[in-house]
Amino acid sequence: EKLQIAIDGPASAGKSTVAKLVATKLGYIYCDTGAMYRAVTFAARKKGIPFDDNQKLSELMKEIQITFLPGENEQKVFVNDEEVTQAIRQPEITNNVSAVAAQPSVRESLTNRQQEIAAQGGIVMDGRDIGTTVLPNAQVKIFLIASVHQRAVRRFKENQEKGINTPLEVLEEEIKLRDYKDSHREISPLTKAADAIELDTTSLTIEEVVNQIMKIAKK
Ligand code: C5P
Repeated sequence: EKLQIAIDGPASAGKSTVAKLVATKLGYIYCDTGAMYRAVTFAARKKGIPFDDNQKLSELMKEIQITFLPGENEQKVFVNDEEVTQAIRQPEITNNVSAVAAQPSVRESLTNRQQEIAAQGGIVMDGRDIGTTVLPNAQVKIFLIASVHQRAVRRFKENQEKGINTPLEVLEEEIKLRDYKDSHREISPLTKAADAIELDTTSLTIEEVVNQIMKIAKK
């Protein structure tokens, strides 16, 4: 039987790293829903659409196609024909994505697209509302958490590889603010589904987290 595995949690908790590895082990599709919200934010910025303009964003959703293609280490992300894999990770996107993700027209459209992707077969999907809203019937629901400090340290190391030099304290503040916004929006806020299993990854290695999820999936 092919499963639906939902992995939710706050910013930089290691969701995508772990989700990718679990998907590879099981031969499942991996869907990074955060990348989709980031792609919409990128497209809005390019068109000069205010990040909280639900109506204009609703028009934008009719025009854009978001596509994932396999890459070497990470999936490549496209908005229509433009590759945005790196661009959607830049601070100006990260710091505005929560506003875009709070708009009903954006959430409705992306939720539909995500459900279509999940209908294609075994899937590991990561995000904020997968276990609660996108795939409420997922057989496996994981809620990944880690201390703010640990999450900022991980983000700091990732940034260094990309040549981004935001100080650690600034990253901690950004992470806290994004979590606050994502947890306090009206539609599908970041919350642990009642039937999700919480894993605190603060002192676990990636491999340990992956193994725990594999055990849960095999039960
Ligand atoms: O996971 P990532 O940090 O890339 O997500 C970027 C942003 O997209 C989140 O901070 C949140 O505002 C939004 N998001 C969401 N629902 C999801 C996934 C991401 O609202 N399922």
